[in-house]
Amino acid sequence: MSTTRKAIIVGAGIAGLATALRLRQIGWEPVVFERAPARRTGGYVLHLSGLGYEAAERLNILTELRQRHFGAFDLVFVKPDGRLRFSARARDVEAMLGGRNLNLLRSDVEAVLYDAVRDQVDIRFDAELQDIEQDATGVRAVFADGTVESADLLIGADGRHSKVRSLLFGPEETFRRDLNHMVAAFMLDRLPETLGERVFTSLATTGRTLGILNIGPDRTAGIFAYHTTDPAAELARGSAQALADRYGDLGWIVPDLLDRLRHSQAVHFDSGSEIVLGQWSKQRVVLLGDSAWLMPIYAGYGASLAIGAADRLGTALAEAQGDIPAALHVWETALHPEARKKQRIGRRNARVQIPRSPFHLVLRDLPVRIATSAPAARLRRLLPA
Ligand SMILES: Cc1cc2nc3c(=O)[nH]c(=O)nc-3n(C[C@H](O)[C@H](O)[C@H](O)COP(=O)(O)OP(=O)(O)OC[C@H]3O[C@@H](n4cnc5c(N)ncnc54)[C@H](O)[C@@H]3O)c2cc1C
Repeated sequence: MSTTRKAIIVGAGIAGLATALRLRQIGWEPVVFERAPARRTGGYVLHLSGLGYEAAERLNILTELRQRHFGAFDLVFVKPDGRLRFSARARDVEAMLGGRNLNLLRSDVEAVLYDAVRDQVDIRFDAELQDIEQDATGVRAVFADGTVESADLLIGADGRHSKVRSLLFGPEETFRRDLNHMVAAFMLDRLPETLGERVFTSLATTGRTLGILNIGPDRTAGIFAYHTTDPAAELARGSAQALADRYGDLGWIVPDLLDRLRHSQAVHFDSGSEIVLGQWSKQRVVLLGDSAWLMPIYAGYGASLAIGAADRLGTALAEAQGDIPAALHVWETALHPEARKKQRIGRRNARVQIPRSPFHLVLRDLPVRIATSAPAARLRRLLPA
């Protein structure tokens, strides 16, 4: 009799695809259900490090990720009129960050994971989860088109506005902490003429920041982050209007950017928030990724933790010899401290990165100025690698 265990994975983002890959490695049969009609393209820039980098090595995707890594880039900090405040060279930024990390587009991470699983895992698009039932022997998922699927385990990798979480634990508002800012990320069709290639150009004024990063031909990513006490009102206006209202008084390249945004959709437009849950699993259903521990984006770690957690979930399930609730308990007990620590760092960074006053702007820049200064570079050269 076959003992292959089956898992339903809801969501084909980084968390869902990494989990599918890891479950295949331990001999499970995962089936991925994704609400979108096709795999997402586009994205924003993310930094893969820590547990995510280590897990990528074990998941055998590090070589492919490295091929898409766009390396370090110069940092250029400008005033609202575009005049230079200060800059840092790529090699100093790289030295500051150390090794064992990668700079990637989110869509590239998803593409690498997708390519790794597509031939071994059933991935169904246009499949929106609506309901879950579970008992001691298994879990059943109901999808919008009426499909009913049964499995030993269900993984809710369905992102920050997770349906699985709401079915398991209750409405999002109970667990979401808004951090008083909005984030809009988008891809640009062309680099504004005055900006350098392979450079991250950053503008910050009180309560508002804007960054543009070019990583090669036709690949330019932009990010706006601004202070607000009413994210719901910002969301209701939509990204183009909200950004026009907030940034419309600025000059330099900003009018051109706002104009282009009027004709395109932000890849991401949402409140800077975090999700804090006391537990991530119930019997045979578990949350993994933003659904469980949405991080402030200034933690720079949500994707990294999702990949690391997927890897560790596979290990816990393989070691538990069939006792799924026990495996989930072991897995989440070990991971909670890491998630809480990174959320703390993200909250602190968010306060620093969106300066509340000109004084806070100076404070914000100080660590980068010091770490990439000529004396720091000289000191690094003297120290052993
Ligand atoms: C601007 C920005 C910068 C970031 N920078 C970094 C960084 O530097 N480093 C880092 O590690 N992380 C970073 N992150 C965080 C990282 O991108 C996320 O943590 C990660 O992509 C989350 O992946 P996920 O799979 O959990 O969720 P998602 O990517 O949201 O995927 C969830 C999937 O589930 C699907 N879905 C939703 N509901 C249903 C349903 N009912 N039925 C079926 N499917 C459903 C969705 O369509 C989606 O495809 C950043 C995030 C942002 C926004």
